[in-house]
Amino acid sequence: MQMRYRYRIEPTPAQQAMLARVFGCCRVVFNDALRVRDEAYQAGVRLSDSEIQRRVITTAKTTEARGWLAEVPSVALVQSVNDSRRAWRNFFDSATGKRRGRRVGRPRFKSRKDHRQSFRLTRNGFSVRDNGRLFVAKVGEVRVRWSRELPSTPSSVTIICEPDGHFYASFVVDVPASPLPVVDREAGVDVGIARLATVATTDGQRVDVANPKHLGRKLRKLRRLEREMSRRQKGSANRAKTRRKVAAAHNEVARARRDYHHKVALALVRENQVLHVEDLNIAGMVRNRRLARAISDAGWAQFVKIIGEKADHCGRTVHTVSRWLASSKTCSTPDCEHRLDELPLQIRTWTCPSCQAVHDRDHNAAKIILAAGRAERLNDCGARVRPQPVAAVGVETGSTPTAA
Ligand SMILES: [Zn+2]
Repeated sequence: MQMRYRYRIEPTPAQQAMLARVFGCCRVVFNDALRVRDEAYQAGVRLSDSEIQRRVITTAKTTEARGWLAEVPSVALVQSVNDSRRAWRNFFDSATGKRRGRRVGRPRFKSRKDHRQSFRLTRNGFSVRDNGRLFVAKVGEVRVRWSRELPSTPSSVTIICEPDGHFYASFVVDVPASPLPVVDREAGVDVGIARLATVATTDGQRVDVANPKHLGRKLRKLRRLEREMSRRQKGSANRAKTRRKVAAAHNEVARARRDYHHKVALALVRENQVLHVEDLNIAGMVRNRRLARAISDAGWAQFVKIIGEKADHCGRTVHTVSRWLASSKTCSTPDCEHRLDELPLQIRTWTCPSCQAVHDRDHNAAKIILAAGRAERLNDCGARVRPQPVAAVGVETGSTPTAA
């Protein structure tokens, strides 16, 4: 399986100038390819991928307007055309219904003003030298801060310039899967706002995964800087300075959150053979719009993705419950399944009017997810009968956000 290893790199000023050119050229061919594809589509002409690549790279290099494309590694340009194709295809498949999930928008043209710049190189465009430096074609040997060892020879590398001005190399490395011994336990995972996750397991245990505490302070600092930036005049030097500070604070928050997600995900994957989670696309539809900020802060999508990666790596299963469940509002007592009409978000515990059981809101939801997930998997294995999806119409009425 493939994993990413990311390191800070320290290009010299001359190398930085060269990297900036590569970013620029990749942007240009990305946009050119998008334009050619769009025009061909409008005109009803079918162009092959290699024809598009020939036009925006090979032929373009011979023209006066695009001659400078020859000065940067052509592998990077080819990868950029590939990215452009993928962006177009995702949009197209989404628009024609071939692609499931959230609607993918029309690909955006890349801009010099984009705060994050990157390009990708495949094996013939880079190598890790014996002296510990990263050789990048036409740029030279760049210093790397090796924070951990690369497990094997990488198949590709993405060179990134983050909005705070720091450069990174992100390597894709093949890592053999290492399955863990099989365990008997399964778990239902409810991602939430008050807690990152609440877990119910088949052996009747409850695990609470708190939101990382240290994040709070970093987030407050970020919010303060964001407010400061909005007060600064657009285009001013002070605004640019604050923008870099915001970007740095943002990175810090993102890194701390990612580390925490990795740690928690690994523990969950280790201890459970199957993890049942709600389909976040469906779950997201029924949540209050004002919660969007809190939800993105919790980084649910990233957390669930990391769980999936770790499960793949360790030979575990992540099962996404494909139905819309009123997981918070349905009583988890076996054979009761009483469903409340509404359950405002600020109510953390409730008593079932039918069976009198007292439920913690999130733990109850985790139990419902666990039960529904196991039932779905049983059906899948047996008659391949899938429960009909229920339209997600019921908003959690009266919901107000309590925690951020
Ligand atoms: Zn009940």
